[in-house]
Amino acid sequence: MKDRHGREIDYLRISITDRCNLRCTYCMPEEGIEQQLRHEDLLSYEEILRLARCFAALGIRKIKLTGGEPLVRLGCCDLVRQLKALPGIEQVTITTNGVLLAEMAEDLIAAGIDGINVSLDTVEREIFAQITRRDYFDKVMAGLERVKALRFPNLKINCVPIVQFNGDQIVKLAQQAQDYPLAVRFIELMPIGLGSTYTAVSKEDIMKLLTDAFGPLQPYEEKLGNGPAEYYSLPGFQGKIGFIGAIHNKFCGQCNRVRLTSNGFLKLCLNQKKGMELLPLLRSGCDDSALQAAITDMILQKPLEHHFYDKEYAEDTDSRQMFQVGG
Ligand code: SAM
Ligand code: SF4
Repeated sequence: MKDRHGREIDYLRISITDRCNLRCTYCMPEEGIEQQLRHEDLLSYEEILRLARCFAALGIRKIKLTGGEPLVRLGCCDLVRQLKALPGIEQVTITTNGVLLAEMAEDLIAAGIDGINVSLDTVEREIFAQITRRDYFDKVMAGLERVKALRFPNLKINCVPIVQFNGDQIVKLAQQAQDYPLAVRFIELMPIGLGSTYTAVSKEDIMKLLTDAFGPLQPYEEKLGNGPAEYYSLPGFQGKIGFIGAIHNKFCGQCNRVRLTSNGFLKLCLNQKKGMELLPLLRSGCDDSALQAAITDMILQKPLEHHFYDKEYAEDTDSRQMFQVGG
């Protein structure tokens, strides 16, 4: 469906848990989540499927599973299989920290997953432990190797370059795209939750590092994925390099997505709190047409643009953290 600004909304990101097996410094506090959601406050898989069916009827075609860490929720692969079977849903993808990927990759692929994004901010064990506060680097690398060994075609590595942690990892991370046709994407840090206490490495600095190391970056015009990433080719690379810059390359005019948190909040913009609690409605005994009407009404109210760093809009800013929303 179109929102009132004429944007086609066909992409839904569903956070299936607020729990995580890492504690990335820029995302989660060391001690974990203060107020973990109670099991009964989470959307059950049946509720997620019902909502997905309603969203599909309204024109959602692509779904991304996220979290917290989606692979820690039991039955995640079955959910993928069931979402894939819904009429209208063309693509189901996942974003994961990769810790459980080695053991789950085969099941995910058998369930029909269309894309796997692995978040990885460094290729060095010590830096990984500093950033994530966990010693799981080998597990993540094994996960990536497993997916590659299965020759899965739609693999992406997402990195958030942060001056304080991994500014010196850019070239080594990009190298992951040299010998396998995967995309390494550099995502601009957003001032959400703990992220607001760190400094993003600029796209210009990243491009200079890559050009010095590998030669000129050539813009790649073909469409890859569902989002706003800009892609480039590098000489001798099988894969691509991508940039997603929500702050410095504002893409709100092309925004095609809405989000569902693990406790059923329909979130219209990453930055703003406007949205709707769907859980009470879901559990009130209402039928699907009432749910669809509520969702339609909300999507029509999707804000035109984000206002990160704009004090005038401070009141509209959402206080949800990234691990609650899923990126
Ligand atoms: N746990 C999964 C993972 O790490 O891929 C899914 C959820 S995580 C919140 C999704 C993505 O958001 C990760 O790639 C993470 O690096 C990114 N992220 C977290 N905080 C961020 C911030 N403040 N700005 C930009 N990206 C952020
Ligand atoms: Fe967990 Fe992903 Fe947040 Fe890291 S970025 S703490 S892996 S939710």
